[in-house]
Amino acid sequence: MLSSRGGPRVETPMTTAKKVETVLPSPPIHWVGDGFPVSSVLSPQSVRNRLSPFILMDYAGPARFEPSKQPRGVDTHPHRGFEAVTVVYQGELEHRDSSGNSGSIGPGDVQWMTAASGVLHEEKHSREFTRQGGVLEMAQLWVNLPAKHKMTSPRYQELGCDAIPTVALPDDAGTARIIAGDFNRTPGAAKTVTPVILWDVRLRQGATARLPVPEGFNSAVFVRRGSAWIGETRSTMSRQLALLETAGDGVIVQSEEDSEFLIVGGEPINEPVVAYGPFVMNTQQEIQQAIEDVRAGKLGQPD
Ligand code: MN
Repeated sequence: MLSSRGGPRVETPMTTAKKVETVLPSPPIHWVGDGFPVSSVLSPQSVRNRLSPFILMDYAGPARFEPSKQPRGVDTHPHRGFEAVTVVYQGELEHRDSSGNSGSIGPGDVQWMTAASGVLHEEKHSREFTRQGGVLEMAQLWVNLPAKHKMTSPRYQELGCDAIPTVALPDDAGTARIIAGDFNRTPGAAKTVTPVILWDVRLRQGATARLPVPEGFNSAVFVRRGSAWIGETRSTMSRQLALLETAGDGVIVQSEEDSEFLIVGGEPINEPVVAYGPFVMNTQQEIQQAIEDVRAGKLGQPD
C-alpha cells in the first residue's frame, strides 16, 4: 500500500499495484535491413498474445553509424493487420508509404502507422542523418487490431515531439510523455483503435512513481536507461521488459539512478493471433490471402 504513505496526493489514488509476472531477457541483436540493429524485446514467439494488443517490440541502439552516401534501412515491404509505432530517441528516420505519406521523425517524435488492410513502406535513416552519421536509438512496437478493423483503410499519424503532452509526476519524481492513452486526466497524443497506453517516462535517482495503468489492462515496463525496481520485485532491471499481471490499477517504479523507461499496455484483444513475417491476422487462411495479395500487387493499392 505504497500509495497511502505521506506526501502530496496523486490525482487518482491507486489502491493495488500490479505485480510482476515475468521478466523477459533482452535477446541478442539482429539486423533489420542494414540500418537497425535491434533486440526483439517482445515478439509473437516470446509472449504470444500475453501482452495483447502489443505483439512486438524491437529496440535499437544506441548504435553509432559512420557518415555514408546511401541511406541505410529497410527497402519497400508490406504490412497488414496491425499498427506499427515508431519512437525515436536519437537520430532521424525517413518514411515513405503506399498511402502517400512521407516524412522524417527525430528525437522525441513518434510515428503511428495503422497498416490495417495494407501498406507498403520503406524505413530508412534520413538523408541528413546518413550524411552526418551519428547515434541512432529507437523502438518500434506493433499494436494488434481486432478482426473487424484489420481490413479497414490505413491511417498515418505523425506525432511531433511538441504534440505529445508531458505530465510532471508528483513529488518532483520526473516526467511522463503521454504518447497514447489517458494518464489521469491527460489524454495521449495518438488516436488508437482499441484502448492502448504508451508512456515515455523519466525518473530521477531514488524517485518512486505510481503510474495509473487501468485494472484489466495487459502491461509491461521496459527499462531503457538506468535501472529501476518494478512493483515489489526487489531486483534491479535494466534493458529488460517486466510483464505485469492484469490485476491492479497501477504500476509502481522506483529508480535506483536517473532512469528512462517505456510503459506499454492496453485492453486485451481476445482473438486468435496468426503472425507471419509482416502480417498479423486471425487465421492461416488470411495470412495466405495477404501473401497472394502482395504477389498480385493488390496490397497497399486503393480499391
Ligand atoms: Mn515496416
